[in-house]
Amino acid sequence: MTEETYDVVVIGAGPGGYIAAIRAAQNGLRTACIDSWQNHDGAYAFGGTCLNAGCIPSKALLESSELYHRAREEFKLHGIGFEKLALDLKAMQARKTKVVRTMTGGIAQLFKANRVDGLVGHGKLLKDGNVSFRDPQGAERVLKTRSVILATGSVPVALPSAPFDGDRIVDSWGALEFDRVPKRLGVIGAGVIGLELGSVYARLGSAVTLIEALPTFLPAIDAQVAKEALRQFQKLGLKIALGAKLTSVERKKTALTLHASDASGGTSTIDVDRLIVAVGRRPFTEGLLESGTGVGCDARGFIQVDAHCRTERGGVYAIGDVVRGPMLAHKAEEEGVMVADLIAGKPAEVNYDVIPSVIYTAPEIAWVGRNEEELKKAAVPYRVGSFPFAANGRAHALEAPIGFVKILAHQASDEILGVHIVGPMASELIAEAVLAMEFRASAEDIALTIHAHPTLSEAVHEAALSVGGRALNAINRKPA
Ligand code: FAD
Ligand code: NAD
Repeated sequence: MTEETYDVVVIGAGPGGYIAAIRAAQNGLRTACIDSWQNHDGAYAFGGTCLNAGCIPSKALLESSELYHRAREEFKLHGIGFEKLALDLKAMQARKTKVVRTMTGGIAQLFKANRVDGLVGHGKLLKDGNVSFRDPQGAERVLKTRSVILATGSVPVALPSAPFDGDRIVDSWGALEFDRVPKRLGVIGAGVIGLELGSVYARLGSAVTLIEALPTFLPAIDAQVAKEALRQFQKLGLKIALGAKLTSVERKKTALTLHASDASGGTSTIDVDRLIVAVGRRPFTEGLLESGTGVGCDARGFIQVDAHCRTERGGVYAIGDVVRGPMLAHKAEEEGVMVADLIAGKPAEVNYDVIPSVIYTAPEIAWVGRNEEELKKAAVPYRVGSFPFAANGRAHALEAPIGFVKILAHQASDEILGVHIVGPMASELIAEAVLAMEFRASAEDIALTIHAHPTLSEAVHEAALSVGGRALNAINRKPA
């Protein structure tokens, strides 16, 4: 085995790893970033789950399917007619692939520009703290290094009652690559992936049924937001069975028969053509650690780290989906930046209290900070301000006057404690709330800030005004 010397070796080039590598190089550190991701066509690509099989392809298909849905349902309201609407899934998928390739190709260019050695192959942390690298041809060499960043991400959880077959029973990656729209689609898990991908195929014409084990819909989010979102998803045609558990799948020639137990203790069966299993993801560390590295994992397989992403082994850090905290690309990125700065001897922190979350459905759901239920539980005194998109001119112009913005502020100090949005472009609107909370702003600070008219952001402004009972374009009361 030959040897090379680095300051930092990053294992994994998803949003956590590739960003950490770029920042490390910007800090003047000699950096390598190893990644083994191989797409279904056999091509290797940087970008990890997020760019190849997660955030980016799912948002590309969400956009295409939303346009199709709006053409079918909404264009006539705008006075736009056409002879016949056609769906070309092959072209839709080709566009998605082009978007993905543009983004993953961009990482290779960024590595080059920042002098990061992007290495395609497998990385393993050795017990002496160096990294062994094996290329796709099987050649192995040791990369000597002062610091290592583990950023190996996560993989889908499998369900014993519905094992993946890569064809009719698939994970989210398989679902992003369907070559035809299933007439009947089953989804196990009404979480983020189930709702996003369920929406894609419902908009394209599938009859979608989601089977969710928990009795409550989206229990981690603000209950009023969850209630409104459920109503809207049901209007779109999603059938969501709560408190239901899949017991077995019968593979018939043309259909899959799903057997499930329901909330009342009864049983039900449903025939589908394809099934997406989206019951969560688990940290991925297979083949990553030589025995004796001193890096520990918890009972669920997450690499154990402190608040600064330091593992139990000096000089070794871990970030992103492979460690505790929400499995989100932007959380992985911020941890990557923090760790690369710490290695360079700079002070760095991640503010874990102000990480936004988004579900890219229609309507979108976005939130940051604590929700009403959490504040009640923690006995924090608060005031609520809210504003419906039904009273926002831009939302009407967009034909999307649904949902609301809700702001929770401390009863005494008026500091913003949480912002919860269900409605059009919630994913973009939440940025203002994140910034406000990062600066520990009060609701009054947003209320005193001028927002352009007519914009959706005026709903955030009005919700902030409504915290003090002073909304101007709506009657000042809580949403029903
Ligand atoms: P990953 O992106 O998983 O990257 C890890 C990389 O490490 C992979 O390329 C893997 O091949 C490589 N690797 C693993 N082991 C080794 C090894 N030993 N040697 C070399 N390479 C190795 N998050 C959002 O914030 N917004 C979204 O809209 C969003 N949408 C999503 C949609 C879907 C369908 C899915 C599945 C996920 C989505 N996520 C989204 C979650 C997001 O993709 C993850 O949180 C994010 O990718 C985590 O980044 P990471 O760098 O930790 O890991
Ligand atoms: P999730 O945790 O969001 O949802 C999984 C759902 O499956 C839960 O509601 C759970 O109760 C249910 N479930 C678990 N076991 C079940 C069973 N046996 N039968 C029926 N239901 C069952 O996980 P996910 O949707 O798989 O997504 C994985 C991760 O990817 C999430 O943590 C999320 O952060 C990330 N992600 C983020 C985005 C985004 O930011 N927009 C999009 C997609 C994925």
